[in-house]
Amino acid sequence: MEYRPYGKTDAKVSVLGFGAMRFAHPEDTEDSAATVLHAFEKGVNYFDTAPGYCEDQSEIIIGRAVVEMIKSGRPFYVSTKSGGKTAGDVRRDLETSLRRLGLETIDFYHCWCVMTLEDWRNRLSGGAVREILKARDEGLIRHSVVSTHLPGPEIHHLLEDGYFEGVTLGYSAINFIYREAGIRAAADRGLGVTVMNPLGGGIIPQNEETFSFIKTNPDQSMVEAGLQFLKAQPGISTLIAGFRNRADVDDAVRAVGQDAPYPAGHMESLRRKLRDHFDRLCTVCTYCRDCPEGIEVWKYMEAANYFMIRASDTPFDRLKWHWDKKIDELDRCTQCRLCEEVCTQRLPILERFGQLRTGKPG
Ligand code: SF4
Ligand code: SF4
Repeated sequence: MEYRPYGKTDAKVSVLGFGAMRFAHPEDTEDSAATVLHAFEKGVNYFDTAPGYCEDQSEIIIGRAVVEMIKSGRPFYVSTKSGGKTAGDVRRDLETSLRRLGLETIDFYHCWCVMTLEDWRNRLSGGAVREILKARDEGLIRHSVVSTHLPGPEIHHLLEDGYFEGVTLGYSAINFIYREAGIRAAADRGLGVTVMNPLGGGIIPQNEETFSFIKTNPDQSMVEAGLQFLKAQPGISTLIAGFRNRADVDDAVRAVGQDAPYPAGHMESLRRKLRDHFDRLCTVCTYCRDCPEGIEVWKYMEAANYFMIRASDTPFDRLKWHWDKKIDELDRCTQCRLCEEVCTQRLPILERFGQLRTGKPG
């Protein structure tokens, strides 16, 4: 396993991190903690969790694994988050996380998921950022970090006042042209960079025919190609993949272990292809889940991806057989545009709903 410095901190994190949001059986704490410990044995030392992951089970699972990792005497890092807007919200979340994780200090603590610049201003005026810095002074956290879905060129607004030692961003071989400015802004300031969603929410491995152009050699698997792309970028400290079980861990460890040099010119060729053919895909991040009408927007948008990637089955088949959804549900949409405001990819959701209804790509 390769280890990289996390920005200017003294932490050296494994290039492959553990995303604790996809356990196959989160209700089974022991079995899930065994998956965490399996990754630790394979050299993974960065473990990313959050209060709401796996219906609040994720921090408990990581806490169970922490007991064993401490016994090993080897270094490891735990990352968790608060999406609180006020100082009181953050303090409550932090105290709950410390208790669940069984830690006195959390290594990386996130100001979680800043969606818009207005959201950022609210976190500042509500005291959320101040409380994270206070917790660092008190020794309850070691490093202050921000995670965001702002587009690349806007990310510097979060970083310019020096509140944070690192940033966590969604980034992959198929959206990098929209996000690379954010990676650059962080690297220029000497910040650590954690990449989430490294395989585009599963779109990359599930559409090999469409995305095979990201491979640097024909024998690579799509997981290898997606992870190699990220590993080749110097500004990235760690990339967190969500693991269901030990087999997922083994696949990803094997994939990041491939040490072939990244061919000169391949990045430019990817850039051209993405710009020309794959304008903006839904990454199924589900941040649009709070539709007031209860519409599961991401399911429709994932089906709409099939227009964008020119897959053979129609979006109606996808909606019916994969998601068990009917297009008529969109009749409930009031066009309030709340989903578009929070969309991490800034997608024209209502326009795509229209395309889904007519069965014609835009
Ligand atoms: S625009 Fe429609 S789908 Fe989006 S949040 Fe509003 S009601 Fe829901
Ligand atoms: S529509 Fe946007 S917010 Fe919703 S799942 Fe897709 S990328 Fe995420």
